[in-house]
Amino acid sequence: MKMKYSLSLGRIAGIQVFVHWTFLILIGYIVYANLKQGMDTIDILWSIFFILTLFACVTLHELGHALAARRYHIKTANITLLPIGGVAQLESMPEKPKEELVVALAGPLVNVVIAGLLFPVLSLSGGLDDLDVTRFSHHNFLPSLMVVNIWLAVFNMIPAFPMDGGRVLRALLSFKFERHVATRIAASIGQLLAIGFVFIGFFSNPFLIFIGVFIFLGAQGEAQYAQARSLLSGYTVANAVMKQIPALKTTDTVDSASDQLLASQNKNFLVVDHDNVLGTLSRDEIIRALREGKGAESIEGFMDRDFLSLQLNQPLEEAWTTMRTKQKSAAPVFSGSTLVGMLDTENVAEFLMISEATKKD
Ligand SMILES: [Zn+2]
Repeated sequence: MKMKYSLSLGRIAGIQVFVHWTFLILIGYIVYANLKQGMDTIDILWSIFFILTLFACVTLHELGHALAARRYHIKTANITLLPIGGVAQLESMPEKPKEELVVALAGPLVNVVIAGLLFPVLSLSGGLDDLDVTRFSHHNFLPSLMVVNIWLAVFNMIPAFPMDGGRVLRALLSFKFERHVATRIAASIGQLLAIGFVFIGFFSNPFLIFIGVFIFLGAQGEAQYAQARSLLSGYTVANAVMKQIPALKTTDTVDSASDQLLASQNKNFLVVDHDNVLGTLSRDEIIRALREGKGAESIEGFMDRDFLSLQLNQPLEEAWTTMRTKQKSAAPVFSGSTLVGMLDTENVAEFLMISEATKKD
């Protein structure tokens, strides 16, 4: 699923590349900052060209992850460029330590290779003699590009989630510990580093505070995700399934669906015709339809027909991760071809709370 308000730049190696609209803010900011410094038009165009080249390197970095993941049969939904960097949306992360290590290292390695290719060219042409990258101009375009690629490799190797270095650290720890334990240790190290960044940031560069907060939240998210997965492992969908199916018919209107939303605890519904599931309808979809003033219309036009079907004996961990990656808040559960219930994310969250509370650890 692509991020909202992103523009497609086309496909590379079969992977769709998007650029997020906030990227325009970055370009605007650069023009503004350059004008304030009194740069002329030519130099401003050069600095924009430099940023675009830099983001081409970022795209190659993400492509490095994506192609390494492809070796392990993991698909990449898309690559999105944000002003702070790129994100390759891998459909899953490899679980084997060696594979995770390779996928995580592949990105920074691309930047090392780019810098490595520029270095001999520059040292032969004397481009490194008076290297001053603090003041960018078209005279030091390639040296700046080399320095920035080295910086990208180093920055991404900070051993903290969500940086590549965090994954490298987890993969290395996974050779010795169980995955969720390795994640917990890696996340703690990352958060400690993040606090360090914030602390140093107060006395020097405020940008470090921003990086620190970003890393702290990333580490927290990754630790929670790993914790959830380890709590779910060993269970099947049958352990968490809702047997009372909140069902709607295609003849129901959005208004009647919203009445049911208010009258019950359900946030997701199955749209059924006899025992046939035709789609799912979530609270968000109901609210969206109401906002468009279509309360009197049939729910048929608003339900999600591309729903996910789960099996009762499927591992719960697998069902939950698939729901997350496909961004489905609910899914019908079948035993063979018979509809037996529904699983939604609220359900799984409750299941997690219960197993957390009763865990003997
Ligand atoms: Zn990376």
